Amino acid sequence: MSDRARVGIIGGGIVGSSIAFNLANAGISDVVVIDRGPLPGWGSTGRAAGGFRHQFPHPADIAFSRFAFERFRRFEADTGVDPNLRMHGYLFLAQSQARLDQLRGIHQVQRQAGLSEAVMLDRESVAELVPHVVVDDVLGASFCPLDGFLDPLYIMHGYARAARARGVRFRLGQEVERVVVTNGRVQKLQGPGLDLEVEWAVVAAGAWSGRLLRQLGVELQLAPVRRQIAGTHPLPQLPSDSPMTFDDDGFHFRKDHLGGGGANLIWEDPAEPESFNQEFDVAFGAVLRERLLKRLKDPGEPLLSPRRSWAGLYAVTPDHHPYIGPLRDPAGIVLAAGFSGHGVMHSPATGWSVAQMIANQETPDLTAPYSPYRFERGSQFPATGNIY
Ligand SMILES: Cc1cc2nc3c(=O)[nH]c(=O)nc-3n(C[C@H](O)[C@H](O)[C@H](O)COP(=O)(O)OP(=O)(O)OC[C@H]3O[C@@H](n4cnc5c(N)ncnc54)[C@H](O)[C@@H]3O)c2cc1C
Repeated sequence: MSDRARVGIIGGGIVGSSIAFNLANAGISDVVVIDRGPLPGWGSTGRAAGGFRHQFPHPADIAFSRFAFERFRRFEADTGVDPNLRMHGYLFLAQSQARLDQLRGIHQVQRQAGLSEAVMLDRESVAELVPHVVVDDVLGASFCPLDGFLDPLYIMHGYARAARARGVRFRLGQEVERVVVTNGRVQKLQGPGLDLEVEWAVVAAGAWSGRLLRQLGVELQLAPVRRQIAGTHPLPQLPSDSPMTFDDDGFHFRKDHLGGGGANLIWEDPAEPESFNQEFDVAFGAVLRERLLKRLKDPGEPLLSPRRSWAGLYAVTPDHHPYIGPLRDPAGIVLAAGFSGHGVMHSPATGWSVAQMIANQETPDLTAPYSPYRFERGSQFPATGNIY
């Protein structure tokens, strides 16, 4: 038997859940969120490192982060769930003059965007801020104390819980296999045991969104790429208030507040091919461990823990920024996917924006830079610098 909803959201991760919550807040609670997983959060959301930052090289991302930060601060009041926000900062170290110049340029953009809290530090100030870090090769750094950590699963859960309380329905364990289009407009979402008539569909299927787009004949690049996090056994020499700390080639580490007090070690493997592989590669973990040994003053002999190391998928677009906005053809479909490593931190602004698009049928200024069609006029997002 066919069922109906005004909006069907494909994907119940942090992005789909935020959209559902924001739609309900905008007065649209005739919404069904469909996720093929038997439990929510087993896509990329539950595998995220839980970092959030304002320090981006483009004003649009800074505005998105500012919006998110305000929402995260009142998240518990809005949803009843504590997002576990810890403002310990992000620290970007420069080990070369070229990187220092780049960080200074990015810092200027941030100041112009009103991010007065971000500062440039010299080596002595870095040593004072993070006495546990080796700074011999450091020329300077940028730091923002508003950046830090939060818990992706709690946030997703908070959004979903509050959306349910406002009347949104969740269908777990159901896969959308077919988006039915009639006369140029979305009509139904179908799969085994699923036949849902909709006015609007939202594609929030994370790294799996490309498959749905291809099925619709939409030619947008969106690739799944494995991203790995190596976790250590408890590491007391890494203070629990230490910032997310980046070397200038992107290697970074954080205190693992939820997983037993070790460190999470993260780096992009530039040779990583496009694939749906989510297996952790211990050889890559060994490389990350070596990097930690070089950066910590007193590293001891950190043990990598198989129980605390994992891999997940980034959904990657050509400029590492998401597609957020309605498709031109077919009509009635809004896309919210392709977040690389920013989908958790940018879920509040994304959810609010998509709700505005459906409720008012207009794209907020905040979100215009993320149009799925931005490449027609050339993406304005810089190709280098703090992308990750
Ligand atoms: C290792 C790693 C570290 C990261 N670190 C950070 C970080 O520090 N900060 C940050 O902001 N972001 C980080 N990210 C990125 C972040 O995890 C993602 O951007 C975010 O989780 C995307 O959320 P989503 O809801 O779009 O996708 P997902 O959480 O993947 O949810 C998509 C859902 O869609 C469902 N689905 C897919 N296809 C279908 C279908 N056909 N029918 C029904 N359901 C379907 C899936 O089951 C899944 O639950 C990291 C990612 C990884 C992998």
